[in-house]
Amino acid sequence: MTETQQNLRIRVRGLEKSFGDRHVLRGIDFDSPAGTSTVVLGASGSGKSTLLRSLNALEVPERGSVAIGEVEIDFAGLPAGRAGRKKTGELRAQSGMVFQAHNLFPHRTVVENVVEGPVVAQRRPREEAVADARALLEQVGLGDRGDTYPFELSGGQQQRVGIARALALKPKVVLFDEPTSALDPELVGEVLAVITDLASQGWTTVIVTHEIRFARQVADQVLFLDDGVIVERGTSDEVIGDPQQDRTRRFLSRIL
Ligand code: ADP
Ligand code: MG
Repeated sequence: MTETQQNLRIRVRGLEKSFGDRHVLRGIDFDSPAGTSTVVLGASGSGKSTLLRSLNALEVPERGSVAIGEVEIDFAGLPAGRAGRKKTGELRAQSGMVFQAHNLFPHRTVVENVVEGPVVAQRRPREEAVADARALLEQVGLGDRGDTYPFELSGGQQQRVGIARALALKPKVVLFDEPTSALDPELVGEVLAVITDLASQGWTTVIVTHEIRFARQVADQVLFLDDGVIVERGTSDEVIGDPQQDRTRRFLSRIL
């Protein structure tokens, strides 16, 4: 357990999101109990990123609700203008997001990259943010790299800085969108090890990944998304080990 961690649950009900006439999320419901890892599987275009981005209101669905801890948004009832932005901002602050690739500031050191959010966006005292950043870098196995520049790091190390940067904002849950998809195969393991570590420390996580062995090992719950609908859900042994739906079986046989 880390000092930043508050270990909260996620509750999603009836999420619907369209882009123009493309109905991308078609009624998503799930719960991620506090301290558990939910892995989202699904083919490209099935709506995984849209779902993850809806959890922190980077996308605003037309209908449905997301609750993370005490912060809940009913998207259909979201007020227009400033009041709505305040509400989406509150939800966004609940989660840290780790993307495929992190655009680290190339001309700033690793520590400066990690403290940017806390100091600029959260107006935290720099000294305190730097101390936290060094502790987080230690946690992701980069304790000795704080004063180097991104170009001196491998892709896997940069991605671990990205994780430290997400955690530096003191989120309540962490969302990962294909965190290893942009990495050379030999660098994938070190990033997955950090995520596994966070999950075992009791962070609530939602992870989109195609790394099936990792998914099977880390997931308390697996959701299989097909064309904006969760068509299969269960433990990793159920969904990955013994899938019941043809669509899940076909997907798994393609990527295994
Ligand atoms: P996944 O992450 O599973 O590959 P996405 O959530 O990225 O799927 O995309 C789901 C569908 O929504 C795709 O058809 C994609 O083209 C479409 N889509 C995603 N974002 C946008 C957007 N900003 N504008 C229009 N269409 C989008
Ligand atoms: Mg995606």
